[in-house]
Amino acid sequence: MNDIVQAVSDEFKGIKFIKGARDGKYPFSHSLIIEDLLIDTGISSRLLRKLKRLYPIKIILLSHWHEDHNSGNRLLPNAEFRIHSKDKFLIENISKYNEYYGISNTSAEEEYNWLYEGLKLENTRIDKELENNEIIKIGNEFSIRVIHTPGHTAGHCAFLELSSKIAFLADIDLTNFVFYAGIDSNLSDFEESLNKLNDLDIKTAITGHRGIIEGEKTIKEELNNYKAIIYKRDERILSYFSESNPKKGIDFKNKNFIYKYYSQFKEYEIIAEMIMIQKHIDKFLKNSLIEKKGIGYVLS
Ligand SMILES: [Zn+2]
Ligand SMILES: [Zn+2]
Repeated sequence: MNDIVQAVSDEFKGIKFIKGARDGKYPFSHSLIIEDLLIDTGISSRLLRKLKRLYPIKIILLSHWHEDHNSGNRLLPNAEFRIHSKDKFLIENISKYNEYYGISNTSAEEEYNWLYEGLKLENTRIDKELENNEIIKIGNEFSIRVIHTPGHTAGHCAFLELSSKIAFLADIDLTNFVFYAGIDSNLSDFEESLNKLNDLDIKTAITGHRGIIEGEKTIKEELNNYKAIIYKRDERILSYFSESNPKKGIDFKNKNFIYKYYSQFKEYEIIAEMIMIQKHIDKFLKNSLIEKKGIGYVLS
């Protein structure tokens, strides 16, 4: 009957993983349910309707504003929604999404509008803001610690259940794609958030697009591998600069510095890549690895 949920551990049966549609691939994502509390609603409308029949969902914690994690909100009108204050104004006003993806008035805008329509995305009324380190009690057995992990978005949060040490890491998703192409994304914050997670004892990690990862040691390794993806991009982008010939952002366009190949969403990916390259350039400037020369930058 409840084939859509799976207990994460034999010991803590009240904590359940819900695999998103299309194996949690974008525009869907995985969720976690602990008694009457659900984290993220991007599993798909069909699965969420099924889930609602199995569990009385009262509280919803949203990891961040991106549409692949909250398109099901509209199906839970009586639940209480919580998100970090830095993402609240966006989820309450989805007409700002394209601006925050940096695609307003670009050729990629239509693609996204079509996607929001397909997901039936609506504004969400937020009832309560999540605070870093806040503890949320769930029944007698469980409590969740909110861990503010900015970088992917400014208000991105991870959640650690304290008795089981099961954590939901959302879009610190431990796949080989690391995304910081939002106007509100920040590369230094992203790296700090990864360090913050690495300092915790997490026995089981659930991510928004990859699913369940077991074992404290494995999780720490995976977090380091994930960070290494950022460092590899640093190297690739930095090696394109020289000491004499100034380079500027536009010189990096359409050169696959981040996307190995562009998919059918090429228009968007080229924009996202440029935004991410700019975040690396900002980091190089901050660390004095490059300096301004004329209309571009050269190695310091
Ligand atoms: Zn996201
Ligand atoms: Zn996502």
